[in-house]
Amino acid sequence: MTTRLAIIGGDAGGMSAASIARRRDEDLEIVAFERGEHTSYSACGIPYYVAGLVEDAGRLIARSPQQHRDRGIDVRTCCEVLGIDLDARMLTVRADDRESSEPFDQLVIATGAEPVLPNVPGAEAIEPARTVDAGERLRAALDRGGRCAVVVGAGYIGLEMAEALVSQGLNVTMIEAAPQVMGTLDADMAAHVQEAAEGTGIRVVLNEGVEEIVTDASGAPTEVRTASGTYPADHVVIGTGARPAVKLAADAGLALGDSGALAVDDHQRCPGHDGVFAAGDCVESHHRVLDKAVNIQLGTHANKQGRIAGTNATGGDARFPGVIGTAVSKICRYEVARTGIGEREAQRAGIEVVCATIEDRTRAGYYPGAGPIWVKLLAEPGTGRLLGGQIVGVEGAAKRIDVLATAIWTGLAVDELALLDLSYAPPFSGVYDPLLIAARATAKLA
Ligand SMILES: Cc1cc2nc3c(=O)[nH]c(=O)nc-3n(C[C@H](O)[C@H](O)[C@H](O)COP(=O)(O)OP(=O)(O)OC[C@H]3O[C@@H](n4cnc5c(N)ncnc54)[C@H](O)[C@@H]3O)c2cc1C
Repeated sequence: MTTRLAIIGGDAGGMSAASIARRRDEDLEIVAFERGEHTSYSACGIPYYVAGLVEDAGRLIARSPQQHRDRGIDVRTCCEVLGIDLDARMLTVRADDRESSEPFDQLVIATGAEPVLPNVPGAEAIEPARTVDAGERLRAALDRGGRCAVVVGAGYIGLEMAEALVSQGLNVTMIEAAPQVMGTLDADMAAHVQEAAEGTGIRVVLNEGVEEIVTDASGAPTEVRTASGTYPADHVVIGTGARPAVKLAADAGLALGDSGALAVDDHQRCPGHDGVFAAGDCVESHHRVLDKAVNIQLGTHANKQGRIAGTNATGGDARFPGVIGTAVSKICRYEVARTGIGEREAQRAGIEVVCATIEDRTRAGYYPGAGPIWVKLLAEPGTGRLLGGQIVGVEGAAKRIDVLATAIWTGLAVDELALLDLSYAPPFSGVYDPLLIAARATAKLA
């Protein structure tokens, strides 16, 4: 019997679910509702589009609505889901200012995350650059001119955007309320990232909360005020984080977890509601090191979880194994990566750790292009089990994090890691890879 799978949200989580469902069941009716114009777009690519590294915003779209339709998925763009009736198995949707009802048998909720704006006057005038359209509007505003930009928030997105604005010739100030950039790293590792940002010309202002974004009569920004200063701003970018977009699901009666995201089991099922699944930035995931549910908003998780939701919505039995917070970015001259837990997370969770940080070179010292790399490892005292890793360094540094992620995932101890059979040739590392040296240093303390 043909049933109807409805999907709310047409990006990573939602369209991964739709795609696998289509492959698994060619008779299934699949309808995906997306309130924007695009599907399967790369928000991750927006900083590179703003920087001008990618000239055509269309290249950020992996699969257009029409391409999905050609594969038998009924994509409805510019169509917002306003309500979910779980008992009647009905959605209320709005398109072209008209409301209608859409039935479903199975449902995948993939509504993503929504930006958290600073609660200060003027913030509402700034459009967060989280969608392709918003990225295009920012690029158009930059093309119209201006000399100064302020980026509020020094997380990885704020830093990537600040670098993009510098490469567009702007004087950029980054304002952060916390005492360090990139709160996902420990302070000692974040200091290298700050040095790279400053080396590119970004003025980094820490420990200052924004109090007002001043705009002119047309709503365009003119300056940003904090308790300690006033910063001229022809452009303002806000990167102060995002929260899971759960109102629609919560209003329908679906449970939220302690993280504030939708609670799901390891099959992406919403507990207590047969045939209702959720995936991506709007859900919580089991953190394998912390052994608790967390909300970590990454495309890597959204794509996999969508695939699992789509598999299970079509009668499969796929399990999402959890996350360990592996993430990577390029900030100015450095690549930056982390996995597992850092010192701050360990402290908050009451987990005792030993840690060591080493500085080395990314390639053999004599080989052209060799540059600094810092590796910090955290391990469990006694067993030496690897619990976390952070890497900052020049080109070639960051993807080493995947070895650390695999080691954490498989429960490797640092003394085992220190003798792991990793590759070597001068263009790639010294004879002992920096990871092996860091593991040996940590093993001495564990
Ligand atoms: C600037 C930037 C850079 C990033 N860089 C990286 C990176 O380098 N690596 C990485 O892993 N991750 C990165 N991310 C995060 C990544 O983009 C997200 O984790 C991923 O897009 C989440 O996918 P999702 O499908 O869960 O949610 P989203 O991509 O947010 O998609 C949700 C969709 O649902 C739609 N929607 C919401 N509510 C409704 C409704 N009621 N009706 C209809 N449609 C609705 C929204 O319009 C949206 O299109 C970045 C994010 C940003 C903003």
